[in-house]
Amino acid sequence: MMNNRTIIYISGEGHSGTTLLDVILGAKKSAFSSGELIFFAQKGIKNREYCACGNPVPSCSIWSNIIREWDKVRTLDLDEYIKLQSRLTSKRYILSSYISLRNPSKKLHCFLEDTNKLFDLIFKITDSKVIIDSSKAPGRLLVLKKLNYKIKVMHLTRRFGDVLNSYKKEVPRNLEEGIEHDIVPLGSSYVFRSWLLKNFLTYVLSIGISYKRIKYENLVSNPVDELSFMIDGDKDFLKKLTARGPFYLKHLVAGNKFRMQDHIYIAEKPMNTSYHRLSGADKAFAKFIDYFY
Ligand SMILES: [Zn+2]
Repeated sequence: MMNNRTIIYISGEGHSGTTLLDVILGAKKSAFSSGELIFFAQKGIKNREYCACGNPVPSCSIWSNIIREWDKVRTLDLDEYIKLQSRLTSKRYILSSYISLRNPSKKLHCFLEDTNKLFDLIFKITDSKVIIDSSKAPGRLLVLKKLNYKIKVMHLTRRFGDVLNSYKKEVPRNLEEGIEHDIVPLGSSYVFRSWLLKNFLTYVLSIGISYKRIKYENLVSNPVDELSFMIDGDKDFLKKLTARGPFYLKHLVAGNKFRMQDHIYIAEKPMNTSYHRLSGADKAFAKFIDYFY
């Protein structure tokens, strides 16, 4: 049964501002910012990582209810669910996921039902009509398209050089600040392939459903224009966009470390990284790629 509840799915490469967009859209009436929902079961329930409200996910006032109710109705056990989900949404197995989801086995059917039930509960318990899911992984679109909700894809892109520069940063693990593991710099060719593939897959897998590309650079330099199609008579939302905030971080699970702040404003202009962490060769390569962006 189709209904008028909507999942806005933010897809694209990491370090492109997906958490920022999630939080901004969460300021809309009847919308709930859920963060990287793909990690809810593993990081939120199993690893007890932190919700943006400052509590471990299983003790959060919202998520604890969702976890309790989901446990009652879920068919698969949690480990099985996590395993299936990570396989289905991995970009390595995208083709086999596509094929198996066209004619789901009994187990896959249970997985889809369980995912549907999870969204049902989030809609119900948060009393919202729109859920924003910034899981980013394009493979998750294969699963979302099988659910009983309207799906709107927001494809967030950012200049390759800035993404690469961001991936070159080294950050030690700090759970309470929302950094769940040591962040080590990644190889440039790995980042390039990932950036290219995730953006390409997002585009291809969105064929046939509502799709909108958003450039991070435009989102930051002119949020009102870039998100004008989302305003839809919501005056409070327009006001917030115009004032660049404040946007409150309520109950996001997983995602960028800035989710642990109380509220944020959109910076006055895109962060100009000048690609300062890149070597000479990487810088030249990034500039070449970004010429076409
Ligand atoms: Zn919370």
